[in-house]
Amino acid sequence: MNKVVYMFNEGNGTKELLGGKGANLVEMTRIGLPVPYGFTISTEACNSYFKAGNCIPREMEFQVLESLKKLEEETGKRFGDPSNPLLVSVRSGAVHSMPGMMDTILNLGMNDETVEGLATLTKNPRFAYDSYRRFIQMFSDVVLKVDVFYFEQFLEEYRTERGYSSDPELLAEDWQKVIIGYKKIVKKHTKRTFPEDPKEQLFLSISAVFDSWNNQRAIVYRRLNKISDHLGTAVNIQSMVFGNMGNDSGTGVGFTRDPSTGEPKLYGEYLINAQGEDVVAGIRTPQPISSLQEEMPEVFQQFVNTCRLLEEHFRDMQDIEFTVERGQLFILQTRVGKRTAQAAIRIAVDLVNEQIISKKEALLRIDPDQLNQLLHRRIDDTFVRKPLTKGLPASPGAATGQVVFDSSEAERLSKDGKKVILVRPETTPEDINGIVASQATITSRGGMTSHAAVVARGMGKACICGCESLNIDLKLKQFKVGDVIVKQGDVITIDGSTGEVILGEVPMIDPELSNEFKLLLTWADGHRKLRVRANADSREDSIIALEFGAEGIGLCRTEHMFMDEDRIPIVQDMILAETIEEREEALSKLLPMQQGDFEHIFEVMDGNPVTIRLLDPPLHEFLPDKEELIIEFTKLQMLKSNFQELNKKKELLRKVSHLDEFNPMLGLRGCRLGMIYPEIYIMQVKAIFYAIANVLEKGIEVKPEIMIPLVGHVNELKEMRQLVITAGEQIFEETGHNCNYLIGTMIEVPRAALTADNIAKEADFFSFGTNDLTQTTFGYSRDDAEGKFLQTYIDNKVLPENPFVSLDQEAVGKLVETGLKLGKDTKRGLKTGICGEHGGEKQSIQFCHDIGLDYVSCSPYRVPLARLAAAQANIKSEQKQCIDKLQTHI
Ligand code: PEP
Ligand code: MG
Repeated sequence: MNKVVYMFNEGNGTKELLGGKGANLVEMTRIGLPVPYGFTISTEACNSYFKAGNCIPREMEFQVLESLKKLEEETGKRFGDPSNPLLVSVRSGAVHSMPGMMDTILNLGMNDETVEGLATLTKNPRFAYDSYRRFIQMFSDVVLKVDVFYFEQFLEEYRTERGYSSDPELLAEDWQKVIIGYKKIVKKHTKRTFPEDPKEQLFLSISAVFDSWNNQRAIVYRRLNKISDHLGTAVNIQSMVFGNMGNDSGTGVGFTRDPSTGEPKLYGEYLINAQGEDVVAGIRTPQPISSLQEEMPEVFQQFVNTCRLLEEHFRDMQDIEFTVERGQLFILQTRVGKRTAQAAIRIAVDLVNEQIISKKEALLRIDPDQLNQLLHRRIDDTFVRKPLTKGLPASPGAATGQVVFDSSEAERLSKDGKKVILVRPETTPEDINGIVASQATITSRGGMTSHAAVVARGMGKACICGCESLNIDLKLKQFKVGDVIVKQGDVITIDGSTGEVILGEVPMIDPELSNEFKLLLTWADGHRKLRVRANADSREDSIIALEFGAEGIGLCRTEHMFMDEDRIPIVQDMILAETIEEREEALSKLLPMQQGDFEHIFEVMDGNPVTIRLLDPPLHEFLPDKEELIIEFTKLQMLKSNFQELNKKKELLRKVSHLDEFNPMLGLRGCRLGMIYPEIYIMQVKAIFYAIANVLEKGIEVKPEIMIPLVGHVNELKEMRQLVITAGEQIFEETGHNCNYLIGTMIEVPRAALTADNIAKEADFFSFGTNDLTQTTFGYSRDDAEGKFLQTYIDNKVLPENPFVSLDQEAVGKLVETGLKLGKDTKRGLKTGICGEHGGEKQSIQFCHDIGLDYVSCSPYRVPLARLAAAQANIKSEQKQCIDKLQTHI
């Protein structure tokens, strides 16, 4: 076996080998920070453990024991030595930080003998017994799988019996009795005595931490954050320092900048006379870090200096855990701090201004997916708020939903399409599913670095913590604030930026981009090759698209213009018309309406290209539902009156049945509609050209691109192209205005991609419709697949991810690449883009960049994301080219 265990002073450990925590401990030791000494068991060891059938190989055991010896020598303490016991923490440390997802054990090495030694050494028996009982509880929970509930219940009963109201009131003798009780619980539930041998404790704990890589919450977290299951976790064994040795001790967490807003000021909190898990678990509400300046001025100054040093060293905002043991500061870990999108942008821009990182690095630092958080709605500024109560503003954003008190319930309701807000006294890592399913989370206990806060910020969900005025009754499923009772199912709104909880629903407004965000996006624009357009089909969406930096419209779905309440009856008349005259009459009513819509869009886009797609969906989408019609018809039949109405319904039902299709998405839709009912497409083309004429008349430039959907054979495009030219030229002649325009097609069925060389003869541009191309390549109907089997496929790793979200490069991508190449072979200047939903997804955008498309088009709210992702794609491929070049020179 290779070397798999590394002491902290063995230097140069990579994150991949030692995990993030382990690598940083090595680094901090190297630069001389006060880090309690220890060693790291590598991620490779974790994988060997799994390969050996969840068993620690002998060689690994040997290496651990060797390192333990070194640790004993360095600290001068010995494992299991009652006169001077070495106590350690055992913590997981994955390559990518997964806060709270895996297990930790503190105070390991304690037993009936070492506890006495610790009591004598520290002259503080109360502290020693309290530490021991904490260890028994944590070890039993993590390793022996005895639910903490039994220990908490026991302690609660003990306190009540003796009239104690809180833990600090318990004396050393009390903790001794509690320890006896705890051991009985262990015996009862595990049928074995609590292991007293520190080495046995150590190896059992190492196994448990490795095993925790595969616990449910870690699996869910990895899936959410796209972290590979094969990485494994490292395990860090570190000698203990104690924050619970009295009022000159404490423990805390500090961020070098505000993780909510990004403001460059120290942010964090601490608890006096406490152990690390007390801060993270959110059981006691901690003090803000600024108070440390008054309570322990020297320690505070040392901490401030350490923060500066660590930030400069790691060139990013750090999240630092520290402990003060009898007035002496120790740094337990540092890692790149999780942050909201708002903070990520502010920090990246500030670090560039402080000349710590380059603009390219700043661009690569922001995860495009995170930007969604900033593009969320917030409470309308003009709304006069009457908050019910206020807690700590732990993660920004506003959300409205029904109150729910249980994570599984939150999950169930959200699956039923309900918007919920999870309210808990505190959350534990087990609540991750509930937090994911909810719009927002509120806890009555815990601070800004508690579990709920960290997880919610990472996910970009609003969160309020430490809302102590909430009197939560989990049994009655309600909370009280003063006299006001809020029951499960009642609707509340929360503002995670202010910490306010408001009863009911309140008006919200659309988001805006901050100055830093705008600046970052202009840097992105300077580094990208792909152009970014928006999918928009109204004036309002076009305005948003432009504000967010779209360089045109890549897809205007004209069917959305037919869905309007006052237009739908006319559309239905058009569809149900028996004769061509009847249809043309309805179309003549629709024409000015569509024309108005196009004029608005052209005006807003002011000379930017606008791709208008002619009607695409099957006609039944505009008609009443057949099943409902049958019910209505049967009811009328039973009434045996109102025969006129009955006949009307019968006629409607006949026509709807006539249009009924077995497989509408593969039926009469797309350009096939134009082929069968050319008058519909002619009306749309006329509306476009009249709109062009009117806008030109106003002196506004237009760049229209007319797009034919669902072409499978070049002959379809040939015929539709002629239809557009004939109708268009007629209007140009009639109005006396004309301009250049393009006619192109969607490439969204495999046949089109495979015959793109022929199709390009009739097209000025291709827009890859990867929504339909995914459906037709996989042979999945999206609605059925997502509702019925896709999630199971993803869970069971049949598919790596949802191909409707991230482009399947293996097959759908191959078709896009083939279509692009064939098209360009025929016409070098062919314009090419993508307008399926993948146009707003970062990995798909990288693919579009790599194969050389001209643009991506996505929903207006995803335009900023696409601008950033396009820049990242370009920077990454430049970096790769550089490396390739260097390698060829070597
Ligand atoms: C597509 O198929 O990718 C597309 C953009 O068209 P729609 O989603 O409207 O079918
Ligand atoms: Mg389509």
